[in-house]
Amino acid sequence: MINFTVGPVMSGEAVLAVGGEQVPYFRTPEFSSVMLENEKLVLKFAKAPEGSRAVFITGSGTASMEAAVINTLSPDDRALVINGGSFGERFVKLLEIHSIEHTEIKLAYGSALKEKDLEKFDGQGYTAFLVNLHETSTGVLYDIKMISEFCRRNGIFLIVDAISSFLADDFDMAQSGAGVMITGSQKALACPPGISIIVLSPKALERVGKSETESMYFDLKDALDNQLRGQTPFTPAVGILRQINVRLKNINEFGGADAEINRIHNLAEYFRKAVKDLPFKMFSESPSNAMTSLYPLAASAFDIFTVLKDEYGIWICPNGGELKDKVFRVGHIGELTKEDFDKLVTAFEDLRKRGII
Ligand SMILES: *Cc1c(COP(=O)(O)O)cnc(C)c1O
Repeated sequence: MINFTVGPVMSGEAVLAVGGEQVPYFRTPEFSSVMLENEKLVLKFAKAPEGSRAVFITGSGTASMEAAVINTLSPDDRALVINGGSFGERFVKLLEIHSIEHTEIKLAYGSALKEKDLEKFDGQGYTAFLVNLHETSTGVLYDIKMISEFCRRNGIFLIVDAISSFLADDFDMAQSGAGVMITGSQKALACPPGISIIVLSPKALERVGKSETESMYFDLKDALDNQLRGQTPFTPAVGILRQINVRLKNINEFGGADAEINRIHNLAEYFRKAVKDLPFKMFSESPSNAMTSLYPLAASAFDIFTVLKDEYGIWICPNGGELKDKVFRVGHIGELTKEDFDKLVTAFEDLRKRGII
């Protein structure tokens, strides 16, 4: 199988090797040092401002989205939330569930965020802003510089879900002024699903300190206290955290986050050039390096996914809901090479010969 989905993605040899080991007991100095190193490297790769912290939540990305919302926001906040797809929708739902007053900035699927979408909210007294930097359901990467300037001039606290863009698209947490950055183990980190990560700036830590939210599992004060000594309040996904450690060290050794982003960027460019003459249209106005979303001109996107999976052993990423038959997605994250993309393009060409696309 070659997996071009956007998560879980393919892992490298070193990560797979750790996955084959017995899972050790974790209340030990050995595991603590793994966790402290994980925190240090995540802060480095996120380019987090001085005094930031990171915590590791056992739970998929959505768990950390929820933890961030309940620990850094309160009913006193008024939030703006970008909703351009199913992940934006998820933030909206979280704000609803936790009774945080909010206004949606609805964008058409595939559309970039424009200055005019934000301007009307200047000086309106909003206190928080939530965005999925890369809206993975459509492939749109939002303009972080535009968002960051808007938040700065309005003194707004910024929460960035970078789950699918961390290590794939340029992001400088300090420069953006973001208070929170969230990511997950199964996207560009290329580890199994099960761990998500919350990076908190000093401003966010202050909000967590004052939070009156009641939750046992998602109590970030508790998580932060424990992580000071490289531990977690409850049994974490120990095996995955050890895999993350190997992966982070590997990235560090080969040039850090920028080198990894560059590698993924080159694969995305290579693939986009190779499919130029196929009967597909780019769906996203502003694509992330992490994936390419394509709109087949004369076939069902879901049928293409099924045929490739069943007859070619190649997994691209289907869509759900309204976009199910319209758009399929091809991920560029995980252990993939140019040769893998050549195989995918050859399969597309074969589908064209067979009259399927
Ligand atoms: C994958 C992803 C998530 C998290 O989804 P989970 O299934 O909970 O891991 C959240 N936001 C974005 C933008 C994602 O790509």
